[in-house]
Amino acid sequence: MGFNTALLHQSAEGDVQTGATLTPIYQSSAFYQPSAEQHEKLFHNKANGFSYTRINNPTIVAFEQRMTALEKGIASVACASGMAALTNALLNIAGAGDEIIASTSLYGGTIDLFHDLETFGIHTIFVESSNLEQIEDSITEKTRVIFAETIGNPKLDVTDIPALADLAHRHGLPLIMDNTVATAYLVRPIEFGADVVINSTSKYINGNSDAISGVITDSGNFNWDVEKYPGMKEYKKFGKFAYTAKLRNGLFRNTGACIAPQTAFYNLLGMETLGLRMERACSNAAKLAEYLDGIEGISVNYPGLPSSKWHNVADRILKNGYGAILTIRVGSKERAFSIMNALKIPMIVSNIGDTKTLIVHPESTLSAHSTEQEKQDACVFDDLIRVSLGIEDIEDLIEDFAAAIKAS
Ligand SMILES: *Cc1c(COP(=O)(O)O)cnc(C)c1O
Repeated sequence: MGFNTALLHQSAEGDVQTGATLTPIYQSSAFYQPSAEQHEKLFHNKANGFSYTRINNPTIVAFEQRMTALEKGIASVACASGMAALTNALLNIAGAGDEIIASTSLYGGTIDLFHDLETFGIHTIFVESSNLEQIEDSITEKTRVIFAETIGNPKLDVTDIPALADLAHRHGLPLIMDNTVATAYLVRPIEFGADVVINSTSKYINGNSDAISGVITDSGNFNWDVEKYPGMKEYKKFGKFAYTAKLRNGLFRNTGACIAPQTAFYNLLGMETLGLRMERACSNAAKLAEYLDGIEGISVNYPGLPSSKWHNVADRILKNGYGAILTIRVGSKERAFSIMNALKIPMIVSNIGDTKTLIVHPESTLSAHSTEQEKQDACVFDDLIRVSLGIEDIEDLIEDFAAAIKAS
């Protein structure tokens, strides 16, 4: 099956009782049981069913199953936000005294999260994800996970996933990849060896920016060594599902990180058009990048341009396009603001992955809590504008950018 057919038909959908073609929103906090015996079984993982929406819910399950099929994993856990998904995915395997190795070019919120984890005794070492030698040198006995984004936001570096996965596995470590910017339309990290995949589904999966959520998808491929991951001991009996079972029976339910059933419904609806939207948004990005690349005084960063440092890796890793985000450097912060204020179609928004084109000045907003060194490492400069392309008509966008740049 092709990408779109599989997305629409691969996982069970709808409602068998009524024939509804969409899975309904089960707007219920709790689910009653026919007997006390059944209730007991449910609480001991000995029966299928639902008890409480913080733990699970039929609409949420439908969304999780579709995410699992999309990323070609074996199980998914849907969370209240991308940040909740990241927090749960990492804390499921790292605790006080442990270390994480993470890419320098991460989403600003994720860098903030790693700062927060220091308080809990988890230390993160930041290394450029293409610098395999330095990553290898940074691995110690305390390292528990390597973390990177498939396409860094807003650096737009493309991670060589097979090389990083190979390195991680040689040291008995799992690789967790944040696939938010690329989505499964461009790359399935699990196919290249990643062990766990995170999506902030608030972005392209939802598609319309109408709800916040995130998903953890497990490949089931990593063999958890109980010496190194003692918390995994009691979940070994779940075999390939050990990581997800630990999460579901522990941190995920106890931190109350659940997604709302209504959000799961919005995501199920939105993701039906993921392929179509990505196709148009990536094409718009490529055309706008090509247009802006020809303008003096503007430098464009887009993995699809041969001038991008990551163009060759992108050609090996990405399919169907080079992503829907580009950045431009325009010479000064004043000029960046002037162009942003003059643009009529793009909205000034901190988000990405909408049907509408969005712009942001990351240095003064998303990276406001980062140090100067972290900003430099993440290629966040004060004259940089990030553009997240939507599905508008490209002629209108190019005309708008031309006018705004001319007036600046
Ligand atoms: C937005 C984003 C997040 C955080 O997701 P939320 O749903 O906003 O919590 C994490 N990683 C990346 C790459 C993102 O773009």
